[in-house]
Amino acid sequence: MNDYYATLGVDRNASAEEIKRAYRKLALQYHPDKNPGNKAAEEKFKEINEAYAVLSDPEKRANYDRYGTATPGGFGTGGSNFGDIFDLFEQVFGFRSPGGAGRAPRGEDLEAAVELELAEVLHGVEKELEYERMVICESCNGQGGKRQTCRSCGGRGTLEQIQRTFFGNMVAQVPCTACRGRGYTLSETCQTCKGQGRVRRSEKIKVNMPAGIDENQLLRVSGMGNLGLGGPGDLYVRPHIRPHPHLHREGSNLIYELKLGLAQAALGVKAHIPGLEGELELSVPPGTHDGEVFELEGQGLPHPGSRSRGKLRVVTQIAVPQQLSKKARELLRQYAHEVGEEVAPEGFWDKVKRVFRG
Ligand SMILES: [Zn+2]
Ligand SMILES: [Zn+2]
Repeated sequence: MNDYYATLGVDRNASAEEIKRAYRKLALQYHPDKNPGNKAAEEKFKEINEAYAVLSDPEKRANYDRYGTATPGGFGTGGSNFGDIFDLFEQVFGFRSPGGAGRAPRGEDLEAAVELELAEVLHGVEKELEYERMVICESCNGQGGKRQTCRSCGGRGTLEQIQRTFFGNMVAQVPCTACRGRGYTLSETCQTCKGQGRVRRSEKIKVNMPAGIDENQLLRVSGMGNLGLGGPGDLYVRPHIRPHPHLHREGSNLIYELKLGLAQAALGVKAHIPGLEGELELSVPPGTHDGEVFELEGQGLPHPGSRSRGKLRVVTQIAVPQQLSKKARELLRQYAHEVGEEVAPEGFWDKVKRVFRG
């Protein structure tokens, strides 16, 4: 035999108000509109309705308490069909399905940004994210207050409108203006949510940012968007990677601009490159040009979904000295003389500057 009290999760001395409150909560939770295709939820919804049909009726409840059945000589409420169940739901809630007209709306998707360092992209990282989302108001179970079926449209949310067309009169369905297509109006507004049915709540979650993640790659966290009576939306996490002081990202490759002095470019140097995991050494050969590229294989970022890493591309930039000591100038002149390069005589540019200055 069904224990109707257990089905609604109330004890045997529960007041009519407590029974109603328990029913409202469960009926919303297991409503077929909220659980499409879920047979178990549908069964549960039937049980809840059967229990409430008996326990909400003082006479049936008294019989049930006394004889273990709602009607003397009968058992339970009999084979209730779904139509009756929805009638009961409508009596309690004042509308047919959790969303009023049609299917209850699902909550909106949300987007939130998470900041991470370029070095964290290398191995992936778990980040804590705090954000706000809309949740169902508990004071009114998401109803926004006391709902009543819209009188203008009878709860359908739409009105029929005769439209005169070239082909004759046609009946069009237009959204009901009285209820804005919801199928219900509020006779009492919930003070907690001001009739919105939802309230803002701060959430803290942990998000796993996979290795190699890029800025244009949104991570979906299922069910963590806004909540609606038709179920939750999703949360999309957008990674924002803070600029690195030395390295520039291009997909799974990293770019480093290596500044070389004239002598370094001419004579070669063992250069120190600030890699993501520490300093790397690069042998720059003698006679290196400006804009030459050296590739350090496997020192870039991981390719998405793979263990292999891209390259660290080192691009040379030859810095021509702006200010030289007298000694350095002399040495450069000696060098120019040695290789037969014609250069301006000492003091020539000082004269030019003087002329320019007037
Ligand atoms: Zn209406
Ligand atoms: Zn409310």
